[in-house]
Amino acid sequence: MSETYNIQAIVLHRYNFREKDVLVNLYSKECGRLNLVARGAQKFNSKSAPHIEPANLINVMVVRGKQFDYLGTAQALKTFSSLKDNYELSILTQKTLSWLEGVLLYEDADENLFNIIFDFLFTINSKKISDPELAFYFFIFRVASELGFTPDLNHCSVCQCSVDDKKRWYFDFLNQNLKCEKCIQVIRERMIVFNPIISKALENFNYNFSGKVFLQKNNRQSFIKFVKNYLKSLPIKTKSLD
Ligand SMILES: [Zn+2]
Repeated sequence: MSETYNIQAIVLHRYNFREKDVLVNLYSKECGRLNLVARGAQKFNSKSAPHIEPANLINVMVVRGKQFDYLGTAQALKTFSSLKDNYELSILTQKTLSWLEGVLLYEDADENLFNIIFDFLFTINSKKISDPELAFYFFIFRVASELGFTPDLNHCSVCQCSVDDKKRWYFDFLNQNLKCEKCIQVIRERMIVFNPIISKALENFNYNFSGKVFLQKNNRQSFIKFVKNYLKSLPIKTKSLD
């Protein structure tokens, strides 16, 4: 095995480590999530420090080590300045990165997922989205789907009839599926009324985030509530979004 290799990655988090080093948590295209030690990156004259800011897209040369792998060199390809200069966007970015840190597995590469994350950061950075927070909830749902959690929100899981607004609908968080009012069982624990507009919104939403992100106030609230509850019900460890 060669002692060095190159990757492209998004910085999720950086932690001070030992006396002068920094531990960088990355999500890379080639190897999935990984931790690298950036030697001396706490020093003011560190060459790598300005490149390893959270949310940056960077090229990294990784040096294999016995106990840790090290960040040899790092070069920022994209620094997403709006995400850092705009207060609201910087809070949303922190929320996004820390949520990702909770759900992404170590050394589990997924190029598609990498692109989804990059597209999301790129688009909110471009400020072309009128409602970045709503886009965030679409993004979360998209990431959960990519991780293998894709509920059918277009049909009743029992009778298979299509979602419409003629009936009342329920989402069953225990089984993670949708049920129409006819098929709902007596036990309504862990179910919430499901607003059919959510199916439409998810279907119409353009997942490269270039589409218009808009829902009317009530629908927006029920969509966000649904995504939050849905995440809580998944068998993955995630941070609360509240
Ligand atoms: Zn049914």
